[in-house]
Amino acid sequence: IFLTSLKKSSTNDTLTTSNSDKVIEQKVDSVLALMHLNEKIGQLVQYSGKWNATGPSSSKTDQFKLEKLKKGEVGSMLNIASVATTRETQKIVMDNSRLKIPLIFGYDVIHGYKTIFPIPLGETASWDLDIIKNTAAIAAKETAASGIHWTFAPMIDVSRDARWGRIMEGAGEDVYLNKVVGVARINGFQGTNLTDTNTIAACAKHFAGYGFAEAGRDYNTVNVGEFELHNTILPPFKAAAEAGVATFMNSFNEIDGIPATGHKVLQRDILKRDWNWNGFIVSDWGSIGEMRNHGYAKDKKHASEIAMNAGSDMDMESYAYEANLERLLEEKKITLAQLDDAVKRVLRVKFKLGLFKDPYKYCNEEREKNNVFTEAHLAIARDGAKKSIVLLKNETNILPLSKNIKSIAVIGPLANDKDTPLGNWRGKGENNSAVSLLEGIKNAIGNNTEIHYEKGIDLTVPNIKPGSNQFLHPLEFNNTDNSGIAAAVDAAKKADVVLLAIGENAYQTGEGRSQTNIGLLGLQNELLKAVYKVNKNVVIVLMNGRPMDISWAANHIPSILECWFLGSESGNAIADVIFGDYNPSGKLPVSFPHNVGQEPLYYSQKMTGRPSSPKHVTYSGYQDAPKTALYPFGYGLSYTTFEYKNLMLDKTEIPTNGEIKVSVDVTNTGNRDGEEVIQLYIRDLIGSITRPIKELKGFEKTMIKSGETKTIHFTINAETLQFYTINKKWEVEPGDFNVWVGGDSTTNLKASFTVVD
Ligand code: BGC
Repeated sequence: IFLTSLKKSSTNDTLTTSNSDKVIEQKVDSVLALMHLNEKIGQLVQYSGKWNATGPSSSKTDQFKLEKLKKGEVGSMLNIASVATTRETQKIVMDNSRLKIPLIFGYDVIHGYKTIFPIPLGETASWDLDIIKNTAAIAAKETAASGIHWTFAPMIDVSRDARWGRIMEGAGEDVYLNKVVGVARINGFQGTNLTDTNTIAACAKHFAGYGFAEAGRDYNTVNVGEFELHNTILPPFKAAAEAGVATFMNSFNEIDGIPATGHKVLQRDILKRDWNWNGFIVSDWGSIGEMRNHGYAKDKKHASEIAMNAGSDMDMESYAYEANLERLLEEKKITLAQLDDAVKRVLRVKFKLGLFKDPYKYCNEEREKNNVFTEAHLAIARDGAKKSIVLLKNETNILPLSKNIKSIAVIGPLANDKDTPLGNWRGKGENNSAVSLLEGIKNAIGNNTEIHYEKGIDLTVPNIKPGSNQFLHPLEFNNTDNSGIAAAVDAAKKADVVLLAIGENAYQTGEGRSQTNIGLLGLQNELLKAVYKVNKNVVIVLMNGRPMDISWAANHIPSILECWFLGSESGNAIADVIFGDYNPSGKLPVSFPHNVGQEPLYYSQKMTGRPSSPKHVTYSGYQDAPKTALYPFGYGLSYTTFEYKNLMLDKTEIPTNGEIKVSVDVTNTGNRDGEEVIQLYIRDLIGSITRPIKELKGFEKTMIKSGETKTIHFTINAETLQFYTINKKWEVEPGDFNVWVGGDSTTNLKASFTVVD
């Protein structure tokens, strides 16, 4: 029945040979017309299946899932990853169900599948949209080669609180950066055509507000007003929708009293109606059922009613829709039109992926063997990793080291750690498969340099196995065993330079990994101070997933390299920077605080009625700490220096729909070639609602040769100037503006212009 009807519906064309939207709509309608109610509801059901190629186990839950699959009452599976397993699971549906509607398989591919790239926050520090797109494209290729159609990425939650463990998963604190980095990732994952066997569907998450969890505590309440929501949280999601992202995921948190999963204004009104987006929204894991815990739904039936009315299309692991949608329809608490719309959204993505044409299109063992973790992919991982490193401090120009250096001490709990650089959310990355710092250093230099390696301390008490993403268990830090510090001190004494690898455990950031202390935990400070006492030439190699409190180090240690969790090629990439084969070019996508009490900390704050003055220095600040960042947003050093001059505007007055050309001369005043990220900021001085003191509105990353001057051009137009005004519309308001250009968000190189009515 199914095939005949499909053929009829697309006149000169069978199934998906044409990918035009119109043809897809016809096909979607023709499938919908064939579906029974249980099959429709089934398309909105997503289960996790942690089984292997032999299929579901004999456990009660797996057997339940198996029966549902056979009846065509499941639309999607997550966490099934490998060609053999996805094939076996797809076959259950194809061999048994009435309509044989293929499953879509989803998986969290956040920063690589087997080849692991820098964590998203770290990779954002590259400010290099090409490499960001490229690594997403490689991740897609490896994922697709392993039988999976869909990643739950990118996360584009603007995140401003270093205590929040999930800050590692996104593009940091800035709206514009989240927009452009999110779109680059979506374009990388999805390519130009989802029928291509090297592409996968992407998912913009978490809609919305998850990054604003109060006090940085995961899943916590979010209290933002309508204007903040529109101006700060939503723009990256709108950009994702416009870029054609196939799916959205909603969010665990409530916003101003309404759980995101049950938020009709967000999902139905803004995303689906105003933005005219036609993909599907998957709930976050169990988030439909969790509305009971929020005190918003009395039971799963009530939760299903709220979620469906609010426009949540697919139920991830709540087991709520499957049990309640039919009754809710009978009781007229939801409508058939709502249900059909949700089903059509899911079918649409499946057609776009070409799954009806070939449900096994990604099931190819040859590809799985040959397209994953290849030399070519590792080369891109190394390129992405070196570009993500941020040089925070290099006071005595210790770096770069000469390859003829006589002796190096490589010290620290993370110095020969092959697992930590993979970070959390590492896809199918093999545990302990990264190049460690020690290995990278050894690979880079010859035998003439002595290398003294000492671990010094363990960072954690090894209470969780590497690779077990157990956010249910708090990490336990080693606060007692300092027996290795003496040997580390000896090694430091013998060496010309100490490379000290410290920071965070791979699972210290990620879901459920919030922290009130963002300093160097365990005995790391003790090790640092002991080593520094005997050798002042210390370079800290920091590995971490969040901005940390490193104030003591910043005040004492001459050189600090921010190395995030850089992925498979970590050690080689760090060595590239340490020995100057690559001149560091990364810039922070988040502010680093002086201490945790400043969090949430971000550059684009608002002015208060009482800004500090020389007389009242503590106004709207702190008595015991600065209110500015230790290392600000957009900041990062190079082995060369750049000078900014001649900031010019081609006009100083424009109408609301006008355009200004901005130019600036940037000179490389040092003696090495280097890349610089030239950043453009604006401020709208008076607004119908108050505006941030600075907002990033553009950037360009470019190579400038030693001694060379480059003129960089930007355009300011309505797109740059508009915001969600008191009229609840995106508008440009007449008035005075400042514009700055520079190498970080503290730049003082300023000009002004006026927008007139
Ligand atoms: C996370 C999502 C993730 C999902 C599936 C949830 O706990 O919040 O970001 O995609 O699990 O693994």
